[in-house]
Amino acid sequence: DVEIPADHPRYESLVTRHRIEAGIEKGITSRQGLIAQGRGEAFDYLLGERTIPSARAAERAAAALLLSADHPVLSVNGNVAALVPEEIVELAAATEADLEVNLFNRTEERMERIAEHLREHGATEVKGLAGDGRIPGLSHERATVDADGIGAADVVLVPLEDGDRAEALASTGKTEIVIDLNPGSRSSRSAAVPIVDNIVRAIPNVTRHARELSDAPIEELQYVIDSFDREEALEAAETAIRRGSFDDDGDAEADGRNDD
Ligand code: ATP
Ligand code: MG
Repeated sequence: DVEIPADHPRYESLVTRHRIEAGIEKGITSRQGLIAQGRGEAFDYLLGERTIPSARAAERAAAALLLSADHPVLSVNGNVAALVPEEIVELAAATEADLEVNLFNRTEERMERIAEHLREHGATEVKGLAGDGRIPGLSHERATVDADGIGAADVVLVPLEDGDRAEALASTGKTEIVIDLNPGSRSSRSAAVPIVDNIVRAIPNVTRHARELSDAPIEELQYVIDSFDREEALEAAETAIRRGSFDDDGDAEADGRNDD
């Protein structure tokens, strides 16, 4: 096991990376998942490894959408299961959403292991194993979902999703919330609510907003949803990445960090 000193300047990032490695060892994360994590880290570094204000607004809108949905579903892949198993189970409970394992590279073994991993972290019901539904516009294996899960959902949260599948899902008319650190990815671009933030920060943030909004009247939820501007949010994220969040000394700026 790797020992990471808590005072290491890149502690969070190293712990996150180690969780993906452990996920691979446990058979829940694919090796491609390791590459996806590397891509994510690069963007997170440029964002200053913090939740930028536009991501905070997206996280609040996502919470309002999940709370006002008839049938919200949270999609879980191997990276999500490795990074935030307990946190995603908590979000499902806070928003009364279904959890569904949904893999780009679907194998029954990995499906089972992820479902088991989620149950070890408190999930009572995990969908995805039935695989009796299809997302139109994708080849058979890539299209598989549960008919009474994502197939019947009106709002779906898809973290770290492949661009093709995110586009196909959005074109079914379901409201799609995407978590993806790349504001230029097709996944972010196809989402009604793109959250450009690291999933390790994003999921607990959405849960916190959901708890704050849990007693809010539907008009207030609708107001939060309507006030969110996806184009503006994507642009703000891109600007933050291009500008970088470093001062003249090359140190990450302290202010604005954890402003959430
Ligand atoms: P496109 O979406 O344009 O088709 P691609 O980006 O889908 O291409 P993938 O590797 O499948 O290629 O996508 C993984 C995405 O997940 C990347 O955009 C990456 O930035 C993002 N990502 C990886 N790790 C995290 C993380 N911890 N939190 C948030 N986003 C992440
Ligand atoms: Mg993508």
